[in-house]
Amino acid sequence: MKKISEGRERLRLEAGLDDFKLPRIQDNQPPTKALVIACSESAVLSAFVASLDPLCILQNLGGILPNSQFLDDLRNKDDDAGWGTVAYALGKMGLRQVVLCGHSECGIATATQVNNPESSPVPGSGIRKDERLAEQSIVAEKLQAAKRTSQLWLVEQLLRLNAYLAHPAFHLETDVRVYALWFDEDQRQLSAYSRDQRQFVVMDQPDIEQLFGVLRADREKA
Ligand SMILES: [Zn+2]
Repeated sequence: MKKISEGRERLRLEAGLDDFKLPRIQDNQPPTKALVIACSESAVLSAFVASLDPLCILQNLGGILPNSQFLDDLRNKDDDAGWGTVAYALGKMGLRQVVLCGHSECGIATATQVNNPESSPVPGSGIRKDERLAEQSIVAEKLQAAKRTSQLWLVEQLLRLNAYLAHPAFHLETDVRVYALWFDEDQRQLSAYSRDQRQFVVMDQPDIEQLFGVLRADREKA
């Protein structure tokens, strides 16, 4: 146990996660009952995932979920590493919290969108155009282009997950809480996506404490 906590501490320090002023997990705490989906290229995100210690992790380049066209062909849903992980976490493990994590210096988001900044991050991903436009209308208006791109990328993953949860085959939409957290690696700030405001909102210390309280409280339930 000591080695694990020392490893986490070192990871936090090296990644600079402490700048974000997140609550710590004590050594004797059980894992957080959540599925975390995060980009694997960011040291900050890796340190965050290790600190949160969730029961299930999907980490890949971009923290990307597959497009949701599979929804029309459910036979393939378990063949897919991404949706297969989500199905296992929500179905078999019974997790009811999903945390999507993005970061400001996401090379994957930038590389994918660089040639066509006006378009969605991935064209033809099975999400209705009006839904996407509604969500993107306010996102990151005042941010520099690269940050805006990485936020839009994260919103895209959120839309894909929502499309999955809303699918009639799963009956999950009202039951699963989804959070989208965006780490500003330059300003060392954590933002959460607000559905009401349709933009990422910087979290202050009480916001962060409250969010982590909610995430961890779910451990108590059966
Ligand atoms: Zn990234």
